[in-house]
Amino acid sequence: MKRDWTKVRAKVKSFIEEEIYPVEKKLAENSDESKDIMSRITQMAKDENIWALGHPKDIGGGGMPFMDYVYINEVIGRSAYANVGLGTVSLQDSIMLREFASEHWREKYLQPLVRGEIFPSFGMTEPEVASSDPTQLQTTAVLDKGVWKINGRKWFTTGASRAAYTTVMCKTELDASNHGAFSMIIVPTNNPGYEIIRETPVLGINGGHYEVEYNNVEVPEENLLGPRGQGFLIAQKRLGPGRIFHCMRWLGQAQRAFDLMCSRMHERETFGTSLTQKQLLQKFVFDSACEIQSSRQLTLDAAKRIDQGDDARIEIGLIKVIGAQMLHNVIDRAIQVHGAKGLTDDTPLSLMYRHAREARIYDGPDEVHIQSVAKRILKNYENNGSGWDFGERDASLQNQLNG
Ligand SMILES: Cc1cc2nc3c(=O)[nH]c(=O)nc-3n(C[C@H](O)[C@H](O)[C@H](O)COP(=O)(O)OP(=O)(O)OC[C@H]3O[C@@H](n4cnc5c(N)ncnc54)[C@H](O)[C@@H]3O)c2cc1C
Repeated sequence: MKRDWTKVRAKVKSFIEEEIYPVEKKLAENSDESKDIMSRITQMAKDENIWALGHPKDIGGGGMPFMDYVYINEVIGRSAYANVGLGTVSLQDSIMLREFASEHWREKYLQPLVRGEIFPSFGMTEPEVASSDPTQLQTTAVLDKGVWKINGRKWFTTGASRAAYTTVMCKTELDASNHGAFSMIIVPTNNPGYEIIRETPVLGINGGHYEVEYNNVEVPEENLLGPRGQGFLIAQKRLGPGRIFHCMRWLGQAQRAFDLMCSRMHERETFGTSLTQKQLLQKFVFDSACEIQSSRQLTLDAAKRIDQGDDARIEIGLIKVIGAQMLHNVIDRAIQVHGAKGLTDDTPLSLMYRHAREARIYDGPDEVHIQSVAKRILKNYENNGSGWDFGERDASLQNQLNG
């Protein structure tokens, strides 16, 4: 029977507020104790039937329909630890394995991945080239007698130290055009030649981003994901819905910052009146409400299009940029309202702010999305083309929804 997403959302929200918020500081310590706490949370989430809600049922997930799960992601975003705590962190990689991996790797990794017993990682970005333009990637994989030999260096491979494997984007087709030259290959992290060089802390946070060297790494031919030369296509399949989930989680973070800001305004008084009476701060509330609501509606609109099978490249580009800026702005205002306290670790805002800054760079920096959206729109005006009519875009979605 289909679960009512509004009830599931409420249950997930209470779980995060009651079980995760109180232990966030402990979880941030990354100690043995924090690992035990996380194990306890994951077990509770499984017992409460709110584990891996968006993963397909046939691989052990909750099987929630995409649009229902989009709303769940919003509340999961409230805590940086909920994505692991509720087993949703492996969704994109599980789907990629389910769709493109050989039977051997599906058997070996899929179920443990969904159960949260192992973690994935993804290696695309390289230190030596501007990886916003991945056609420049230099890591190579050469197939010889049924074995891929991989050489290169990646960095910002998130979660590499705890991951069971990394999906590595490699140049495999030396004669093919840029976008047909790359493939995705699974490399178990205990493979000889796979070496973690260092962690790169980000804005003072040890967030688990690693530089990794691939020195004559040899893996069997069957470790290829999908067909040769389809790396870009597979990456796009991974990133499209993934960006919707990111943007919804950012909305959850923004909601938390917004709640903290509004509550704080009721708690403090200056020059004889409550902060709620200061017009300059009322403008913070107004601007944040506008940005959250507009980003939310844009994200839901993009999600509906994805759900209808549209790749929604323009809409996804819009929400990636607008969403990351919205998140940054809302948290920034919440910090301002808290004064010096907002910069300490006495509230979650300081950590949220630093993570929010990352959002404008990972999964493609703002500028790349802006350029890509503008180019796509302008193409529609080429040679007196039909242009980009926002109303017609809505009408086409409506027609799809009406079947
Ligand atoms: C927290 C975090 C986690 C990450 N996790 C992963 C991961 O798990 N796996 C992985 O492979 N990568 C990961 N990344 C890396 C991320 O995807 C890259 O940083 C991103 O794609 C940008 O590549 P780059 O850093 O090489 O920047 P560069 O390509 O060097 O770009 C630098 C700057 O140039 C500007 N620029 C680039 N192109 C244009 C343009 N067309 N027009 C105008 N300006 C432009 C932008 O301002 C950009 O920020 C992560 C990054 C962060 C911050």
